[in-house]
Amino acid sequence: MLQDWLAASNYTVIFTGAGMSTESGLPDFRSANGLWRKKDPSQLATTEALNHNVHEFVEFYRDRVLGIKKYGPHKGHKILADWEKKQLIHSIITQNVDGFHTEAGSIRVAELHGTLQTLHCQLCNKKYSSEKYVDEDFICECGGMLRPSIILFGESLPEDAFNMAFEEAQKAELFIVLGSSLSVSPANQFPLIAKESGAKLVIINEEQTDYDIYADLVIHKRKIGEVLKEIDSMLRES
Ligand code: NAD
Repeated sequence: MLQDWLAASNYTVIFTGAGMSTESGLPDFRSANGLWRKKDPSQLATTEALNHNVHEFVEFYRDRVLGIKKYGPHKGHKILADWEKKQLIHSIITQNVDGFHTEAGSIRVAELHGTLQTLHCQLCNKKYSSEKYVDEDFICECGGMLRPSIILFGESLPEDAFNMAFEEAQKAELFIVLGSSLSVSPANQFPLIAKESGAKLVIINEEQTDYDIYADLVIHKRKIGEVLKEIDSMLRES
């Protein structure tokens, strides 16, 4: 059914969460092996931690930067990039900070929570590659502290990404959520904005979400990579 909806839709938007990248090897936040089961977010992903608990902050994010350098996009990310080239999908709104969609070749990507691929100086804003964290170099040439270019708890979403996501959600005829518990606000509003603007809503997530009741189709207990591969071969055969 989903392959027919994809083929028929004039404007399809994909919305991804941490579950999109677990098949690359990166843990998500909230499921059984999730990062938040091991570390306390209130201690780490905050500006307070950056300012007052720097050692643990940089250690946590250095590990996460090492994770994205070690792993990379999987077949599912590549299928989405290919679908964009074929105009089967039109954009991706992501909560992920791993940068894997862009690395896989997707062009129109709204990174709502920023990216771990770059760092910037807290004082002068100068940008650096996150390789610097790998080299345990945490200080800017101006003497300021380097932080990952992601959104910490309490910070607002980047305006460009937010505006793009808002427009895309309103334009969507088909809006497909891949691997998100939809428990983080305001990102979790986009599926509803799409639905209210007339889109068909599809949620593909191993576990149930609070938004399943709004969806026209829900797929549980399946891996995203497998589902995307299956749909891709059906589309190629048709
Ligand atoms: P979440 O951890 O709350 O939810 C992920 C969901 O994906 C879970 O419900 C889980 O059942 C499902 N899932 C996991 N692997 C799956 C698979 N292979 N197939 C299908 N479903 C799968 O993640 P979220 O909703 O994205 O939470 C948002 C926060 O997580 C964001 O702030 C995001 O920045 C952050 N995050 C990002 C990354 C990353 O960039 N890769 C990693 C961890 C957390």
